[in-house]
Amino acid sequence: SMASPALLMRVVASAYSVAEKAATIVRNVMAAGDLGIVEKTGANDLQTKADRLVQMSICASLARKFPKVTIIGEEELPTDEVNEELIEDGHCEEILKKTCPAQYTGIKEEELVIWVDPLDGTKEYTEGLLDHVTVLIGIAYGGKAIAGVINQPYYNYEAGADAVLGRTIWGVLGIGAFGFQLTEAPAGKHIIVTTRSHSSALVNDCISALKPDSVIRVGGAGNKIIQLIEGKASAYIFASPGCKKWDTCAPEAILHAVGGKITDIHGNSFQYNKEVKHMNSAGVLATLRNYDYYASRIPNAVKQSLVP
Ligand code: AMP
Ligand code: MG
Ligand code: MG
Repeated sequence: SMASPALLMRVVASAYSVAEKAATIVRNVMAAGDLGIVEKTGANDLQTKADRLVQMSICASLARKFPKVTIIGEEELPTDEVNEELIEDGHCEEILKKTCPAQYTGIKEEELVIWVDPLDGTKEYTEGLLDHVTVLIGIAYGGKAIAGVINQPYYNYEAGADAVLGRTIWGVLGIGAFGFQLTEAPAGKHIIVTTRSHSSALVNDCISALKPDSVIRVGGAGNKIIQLIEGKASAYIFASPGCKKWDTCAPEAILHAVGGKITDIHGNSFQYNKEVKHMNSAGVLATLRNYDYYASRIPNAVKQSLVP
């Protein structure tokens, strides 16, 4: 008989279904109309009922199947019993059919760290900018982001009632990334995508110094990586602390799986081992192509303001 699929592939296949369940919860909470908004550190750092329910759903579902994996979620929640209705035990068969890259076939549960952003783009979710929202499940091994799932619950929501709502993008280093059409950004144009709700003088000064042809301001780290891989923007630049490991882990795995690059503003790669500090204190610089063009033009004054 066939050997059972490698642990990594089983985790990704489960994360795919868990992220689809999460997307249903995100849509249902919005449709029910009571977002239950809580301010965490302030008015630009929010948590809704969807952030809470989705985190419980993702973490409990994955923990039940993979009890020795370390799972780190964004939200601090009471550790009550999780309602059985939040548990997803399915998986994506198509992912299980892919061959696990040789360097990952021996991975054990206790060696994986899963970084969960149950709802990325919460501020935009509360403002009705629904396609900015993503659910992020990033999988790390040896401190590196090696696989990830990004679900966009409201993909296509402005495309009319006939369009299929929502999509799931997934990727593994050495296999590639799926669920979207990889598209190059317009050649010779410098289109920067950045924050819409967490700007600062430093964020704006850094962008101005790069003399972009245009700037796209949208919510969510997941959403901004989608802008890169679908050719809407040529660089994601955020010269500020604020972004955390659960924001970058899944996007990093998917971007790297298709040949892109993400680092902090100094060019340091992100680490995802379980002991690492959560904050990406020195910002974010990500591209699908031409990373060096942008990295070499970040002003020294900006770098000196952002201590890793
Ligand atoms: P943005 O591009 O503003 O949507 O930020 C990307 C991710 O980083 C989101 O999860 C934000 O909540 C988070 N983030 C960025 N800046 C801050 C901040 N100043 N305070 C709290 N969260 C932030
Ligand atoms: Mg986030
Ligand atoms: Mg979040």
